[in-house]
Amino acid sequence: MPKSPEDVLKLIKENNLGWVDLQFTDLPGRLHHITIPSTDVELESFKNGFGKLDGSSIRGFTEIFESDMVLMPIADTASLVPWSAGVMRILTDVYWGGGKGRFERDPRGVANTAEKFQEERGYKSFFGPELEFFLFDKVDLDVATPQSGTGYKIHARESPWEGSGSFVIRYKEGYYPAPPVDKLMDVRVEIVDTLVKYFGFIIEATHHEVATAGQGEIDFRFSTLTDTADKVQTLKYVTKNVAAKHGLTATFMPKPIYGDNGTGMHTHFSLWSKDGKNLMFDPNDDYAEISQTGRYVIGGILHHARALSAIASPSVNSYRRLVPGFEAPVYTAWSRGNRSAIIRVPSYFRGIENAKRIEYRAPDPSTNPYLLFSAVLMAALDGVNKKMDPGDPVDENIYHLTPEKRREKGIRELPRSLDEALDELESDKEFLKPVFSNSIIDTYIDLKRQEAKTLQMYPHPMELYYYLDS
Ligand code: GLN
Ligand code: MG
Ligand code: MG
Ligand code: MG
Repeated sequence: MPKSPEDVLKLIKENNLGWVDLQFTDLPGRLHHITIPSTDVELESFKNGFGKLDGSSIRGFTEIFESDMVLMPIADTASLVPWSAGVMRILTDVYWGGGKGRFERDPRGVANTAEKFQEERGYKSFFGPELEFFLFDKVDLDVATPQSGTGYKIHARESPWEGSGSFVIRYKEGYYPAPPVDKLMDVRVEIVDTLVKYFGFIIEATHHEVATAGQGEIDFRFSTLTDTADKVQTLKYVTKNVAAKHGLTATFMPKPIYGDNGTGMHTHFSLWSKDGKNLMFDPNDDYAEISQTGRYVIGGILHHARALSAIASPSVNSYRRLVPGFEAPVYTAWSRGNRSAIIRVPSYFRGIENAKRIEYRAPDPSTNPYLLFSAVLMAALDGVNKKMDPGDPVDENIYHLTPEKRREKGIRELPRSLDEALDELESDKEFLKPVFSNSIIDTYIDLKRQEAKTLQMYPHPMELYYYLDS
């Protein structure tokens, strides 16, 4: 049952809470918060919001001269925070101050608009992301200052090169030896337990991932667009906080360690009619029980894949993950089981309408989930509207095909850098326009260009290795 404003007030009273933490997401996707006294929360607050936000210091928000903003609480997202006694957190929508309406660069607003857009056209959709992450004992960030540059050091409980005891996970064998080799099960269980008991999650699985040094994954039950994006933000928030309690650092960055698997956020997606029919399912299709509409959905995502990269793989670091050999996709192809393609049609079962979906494997969790899911939906709907043909599925290992063979099959490479992805987005953004304002696309591109430019100006430690003796 969704929580109402009355439920929120009751929760505050019954638990004698002193503080309410108002949370929202900036344009690149980072969660922010402001804490207010619970005595300021009334039924009216759910209509008027809280005039508490100075938007001028939030990335992608406003200029200094126009920075008074209002946070509108979403009752259903209210939860007690187990690691902060007496505190409730609640997600909020961002509005302009002075009654000027919804703030057009609030990423959650894009998600709301995308849901309205599909509904008006008779659709609904479901999203199910698989969140991967690393848990490190300690990360020495001396590389983060221009004065240093001798390299970074990651200390991980399970890393053989840290000499962490007798049961170490061997290189790329983290998937899934049982404890005591897996030393992080208890932390992962505490994370999912917190998600279930406090934040209303339905968890499907949690496990160690392939990478050696403490990589994990949590999968939760698929849901609607905005709700799933809220859950991604909540999952990251809970994982980081529970890890911190254990003296660990949780990171969702896409490729923290050279030579081992990176961190993805495979995103399962299905398109339904408003009256509850899975439009992607066709029991008479021999290949993967995927319907013609399902093929158009794939066609749309493949067609826009290179532009989508700017949102799905939005960090300079994302492109260190998207290389052959680490189960991360490199090519714009689709298949049933092929993990080198960006789209897979999972086929664990036969004859189950509810389970039919595609798995889009390019995204990583440095993405802004509100923008990502909205963009995936728009690419899918564009594919359906324009009847985009995804071509034949590719069941060979694409890494082993010659460039000529790939060209013959219409397989393109994903961009190799954030800058290349941003170029693609700049030239292929029309499909987003019905739900993304021009200002959000342009501001996003600007921010990300700056990020890429800054990193491009930093000499990397490995450059000393190669070029010091030039
Ligand atoms: N970690 C891999 C990635 O970067 C995925 C591995 C898996 O889920 N089997 O996408
Ligand atoms: Mg998985
Ligand atoms: Mg995985
Ligand atoms: Mg997967």
